[in-house]
Amino acid sequence: MGTKRNQSTKSHSKKHSKVATRDKLQGQNPHKNQRPGNKKSVTAKVNCTGLTDDGKGIVQWEGKQLEVEHLLPGETAEITVSTSGKYVAVELKRVITPSENRVKPACSYYYECGGCQLQHMNGQAQMRFKQVTIEKLMEPFGKPQPILTMDHPYGYRNKSHTTFGLNKDRQIIGGLYAQNSHRLISMDRCLIHDPKADEIWQTIKDMMKSFRIQPYNEDTGQGFLRHVLVKVGKVSGEIMVVLVVASPVFKGKNNFVKALRKAHPEITTILMNVNNKNTSMVLGDQEKLLFGKGTITDTLCGLKFDISAKSFYQINPIQTEKLYAKAIEMAQLTGKETVIDAYCGIGTIGLIASQKAGKVIGVELNKDAVRDAIHNSKRNGVKNARFYQGDAGKFMVEMAARGEKADVVIMDPPRSGSDEAFLSSVVKLKPKRVIYVSCNPETQVRDMKYLTKNGYEVIGIQPVDMFPQTVHVETVAELVLK
Ligand code: SAH
Repeated sequence: MGTKRNQSTKSHSKKHSKVATRDKLQGQNPHKNQRPGNKKSVTAKVNCTGLTDDGKGIVQWEGKQLEVEHLLPGETAEITVSTSGKYVAVELKRVITPSENRVKPACSYYYECGGCQLQHMNGQAQMRFKQVTIEKLMEPFGKPQPILTMDHPYGYRNKSHTTFGLNKDRQIIGGLYAQNSHRLISMDRCLIHDPKADEIWQTIKDMMKSFRIQPYNEDTGQGFLRHVLVKVGKVSGEIMVVLVVASPVFKGKNNFVKALRKAHPEITTILMNVNNKNTSMVLGDQEKLLFGKGTITDTLCGLKFDISAKSFYQINPIQTEKLYAKAIEMAQLTGKETVIDAYCGIGTIGLIASQKAGKVIGVELNKDAVRDAIHNSKRNGVKNARFYQGDAGKFMVEMAARGEKADVVIMDPPRSGSDEAFLSSVVKLKPKRVIYVSCNPETQVRDMKYLTKNGYEVIGIQPVDMFPQTVHVETVAELVLK
């Protein structure tokens, strides 16, 4: 995410198209065995009785449960149901009796884009939906605390990537891919992005013509500019622009950089990243600094962090401070503990924890992030933290084999969650507390089931609204050794 762990930097290809949903029936792949010749389409009047975990309206139709995008509980609506063999596509045609929770989406691209899924609900309904979803998922462990909400839930994303293409008239357009597709939607503003980021890529789009820069075409492999990644330091105001290009030969790059800096003197660093692979990852391996120091700084919980282009950094710093404060509170540090910060990124949680701990050991897979973590440790004068590059599971297995001790493990894995190597080593190391931060409560539940079967008990769960307008929820859970 979106969301998080999206520094893995997949392009904005998220699910769904228009208001149509293709529903899976009997758990089968909707794209298999389609017989387009055998299509049937009917209009039906339905009542929405609830929401799925991904925010779609649940309705019954001819004895089947269907999911309708953008429909709310209590609403009556007209839908089109198209069947083709065993497969069913559902489209919301018209809401007949709107819910009192329905609002007009603030974004005019909302129904086309799909990057946000909840803009048709008012803020309270969004929070209720997230709370109930987390309560259902976490049922085996107890009742979560009320979600920590965001006062101004727009413009929060400190990182954005934009893609460029040509429209029917061969004019350059820029915007985001519709969810789960590579269909580029031309837009001028994404309301959850930092507004400055959108201004900058618009300027770049306008400059492309005069600099004779063609947008990259994924299908043909022709063209040059693939994406523009903008990262903003919300506190420092520093801005990084990464031009992701298809070839290392950037003709006129000095003039381009000069012109861009003239238009946006607020940009503090510009990099070129070469991605010449046929991939949906945004960033390639080669990076070249074109201007500035190559990193931006942000402040979180009183510490300063330098962030590189490829390092993961939480995308909503206002909510991140609330999340981290909760994680540190749950860790109950007294100044003596050995704390493991697993999946540590640029060292944020570990360095904040180091002020209240005996020592901190951080482990992270991404080389650039570990370099940032070590640098950030020095930058903040932290003497009791060490950071290591490697797979967190392997690192923990080795620690356990050496008979080392840890009092607290703070873990914050990517969306896929942790793995058995890691979790079984936690069980061997027997830390008194495990603080599990997650951007995917489903994998968190899976992993916590493992830990609770092996001696731990979940004693606190705190959801945080890190990704307003979308279905994603961040949670932090506190586990103690029984
Ligand atoms: N705790 C950090 C980063 C969390 S994101 C923060 O709050 O900012 C998850 C991190 O896990 C990413 O930095 C990613 O690079 C890292 N990661 C992914 N797989 C990993 C693995 N197998 N071992 C260690 N780190 C991993």
